[in-house]
Amino acid sequence: MARLDDRWGPHLEGLSAKGGRRVLKPGRPEGAAALWRNGRRLINFSSNDYLGLAGHPALIERARAWTEEWGAGARSSRLVTGTTELHAALEDKLARLKGAEAGLILNSGYQANSAILPALFDRRILGAEAVVFADTLIHASLHHGCRSAGVRPHLFRHSDLDHLEELLNEHGGGARFIITESVFSMDGDRADLTALAGLAERHDAFLYVDDAHATGVLGPQGLGLASTAGTGIDLVMGTFSKGLGGFGAYVVCSAVMKDYLVNRCRGLIYSTALPPGVLGAMDAALDIVPTLDAERQRLHAGAEALRQALSGAGLDTAGSTTQIVPALIGEVDTVLAVSAMLEEAGVLGIAIRPPTVPVGTSRIRFAVTADHSSEDLDALIALVPRMAKMSQI
Ligand SMILES: *Cc1c(COP(=O)(O)O)cnc(C)c1O
Repeated sequence: MARLDDRWGPHLEGLSAKGGRRVLKPGRPEGAAALWRNGRRLINFSSNDYLGLAGHPALIERARAWTEEWGAGARSSRLVTGTTELHAALEDKLARLKGAEAGLILNSGYQANSAILPALFDRRILGAEAVVFADTLIHASLHHGCRSAGVRPHLFRHSDLDHLEELLNEHGGGARFIITESVFSMDGDRADLTALAGLAERHDAFLYVDDAHATGVLGPQGLGLASTAGTGIDLVMGTFSKGLGGFGAYVVCSAVMKDYLVNRCRGLIYSTALPPGVLGAMDAALDIVPTLDAERQRLHAGAEALRQALSGAGLDTAGSTTQIVPALIGEVDTVLAVSAMLEEAGVLGIAIRPPTVPVGTSRIRFAVTADHSSEDLDALIALVPRMAKMSQI
């Protein structure tokens, strides 16, 4: 081991020197809005459990019941014997709720994006090179999918559809794909999906939308911003791991596309199916989420109050219009100092820095949840002037 550690150790030391070395910090959640760490209770503004469903009794109960009845594991991959009746029923329910022809469950959002894109971009099947256009701020898993397909996407400036159109005009031929998120995970702003669908249609491109951060909190019944029904969007993926409080991912698409993925998506084919307990939490979340309009309202009102406080103090919130509210700080050292100040004051606001976000745009990414009380929000808002002062130095 020492021999190998000699190779990797210096890299870590280099990261330390640049303030870029990250460490795991074990904690114990108390609902979505608080976290215990080293004996201290911190108000947690860094959780993606936007509706507090991870702790919801209905999800816990169905996870328990399905585990008891069906076992702790799925016992094999989907195409072998791992597809239980639970998977099939859940996929039907998902498709029905999303108004789509078909639904498919995958093991995680990262796995879905990194495995679906190479299946879609397979040159032998397309009969042409895949030509991919993507927003610069797409999630790492989408970049991974492109890379593992051997495709270098043409990146358009964030949400700049004129730039996208220029690139579409410039790079004709091939089989064309546009990739975006509906809500951008680090900026909390939204893509103009209608305009993107229009561009996709005019330029004969396939539109792929990652709805991870909208699922549960935005759109009709909170079921996301993207749908395949009459919208011009060809494939929507989303996750059960954020607003839906559990784990796993979904795709909604045409029945043919689902069959294609079942046959060609290596991440689905070569991985053990999700266990019954995870499916139980998914199933309960799908039942509950449509009934949570009041929680969504509270969530969005809280996010708006935070945005107003931040921008009132001169901090840039990067176009956020959702429960994700970044405070752009800029430099890594400063953002780490701000994060430490917040933690000292009892608030958890995680510093997000390169490579997760572009250099010079380090930020605190606050995520407001429906579980935050007005006292929780007030505690954070009271710290905003100090954040602003620190970020000016
Ligand atoms: C979190 C996230 C993923 C990954 O989902 P997991 O289920 O956590 O693997 C994919 N895409 C986006 C935009 C995300 O924010």
